Amino acid sequence: MEKILYAKPVIDSEVEKLTKKCSELKSSGKVATLKVILVGQDQGSVIYTNNKKKFCDKIGADCEIIKLSEDISEKDFLAKVNEVNTNDQVHGVLIQLPLPKHLSHIDTTNLVNPAKDVDGFHSSNIACLFRGGKGLDNLTPCTPKGILTMCNYYGIDLEGQHVVIIGRSLIVGKPLALLLGNHNATVTQAHSKTKNLKELTKSADIIITACGTPKKFNSQYFRDDQSQIVFDVGISRLPEGGIAGDCDFHQIKDQLKAITPVPRGVGPMTIFSVAQNLLQAQENSL
Ligand code: NAD
Repeated sequence: MEKILYAKPVIDSEVEKLTKKCSELKSSGKVATLKVILVGQDQGSVIYTNNKKKFCDKIGADCEIIKLSEDISEKDFLAKVNEVNTNDQVHGVLIQLPLPKHLSHIDTTNLVNPAKDVDGFHSSNIACLFRGGKGLDNLTPCTPKGILTMCNYYGIDLEGQHVVIIGRSLIVGKPLALLLGNHNATVTQAHSKTKNLKELTKSADIIITACGTPKKFNSQYFRDDQSQIVFDVGISRLPEGGIAGDCDFHQIKDQLKAITPVPRGVGPMTIFSVAQNLLQAQENSL
């Protein structure tokens, strides 16, 4: 197996399938259509939404970024969501977070029509994971799904493997624990109150870091027998410029079997999964 697990070869190998699926659906007169709702001009959100649009363009899907003003009223915001939720020509809806302060109390998770929920956060889509879903034909949260796609591509068999996940957020840690458990991994979920974290990570076969503390995981957290695999989900902006993952990549890479880099690791897989979910949503709607 390669030491550095980049997203690019995974996406290159899968993109053809998505493009083909998209054009088959197109030939039946229905273009896969995603509406991304972006409120305000948060720099990170603008970049993320543009990347999602670029990827949709690449596979022949239609993606519109609906740009709403930073000071839009709650009533108008909800009306816009309702409009795309109920439009038959729209297959996927995504609300880019964070929302401005005056809208941040809204539970966007359950606001999107579950059949169009390409983020996979709606309770009814999460319930599929509770019921044992393997992330194939339902709308599964994108980062967990992207990690699974990487495992499949790089031949990482999860069955019986001890996976330690650091982080228990609703968008990454929790759904990831369910998804990998459904693939017969033995999952330990760690978080900010976990004791003996180093002992846990050292005992794992696979470690997935998703806590948002840049370069926290240094050589002390891993064995040095080149047998462990690390997926680094974290993305943090550094004060000196640039971004870093949760792992000290350069310090630890030689003691591991394999590791995903930041950038160009898990991040692009998340966008890829959005496109997968969009086509899944469209297929389900037919
Ligand atoms: P979050 O920020 O909501 O929560 C962080 C989690 O990490 C919590 O569950 C907390 O208990 C745990 N944690 C925090 N500090 C810890 C510590 N010192 N030790 C152990 N556990 C600790 O989590 P999130 O939204 O899942 O985001 C996590 C990171 O992943 C962020 O850097 C975010 O930017 C990144 N992210 C990346 C992608 C991607 O596509 N690569 C997608 C989503 C999030």
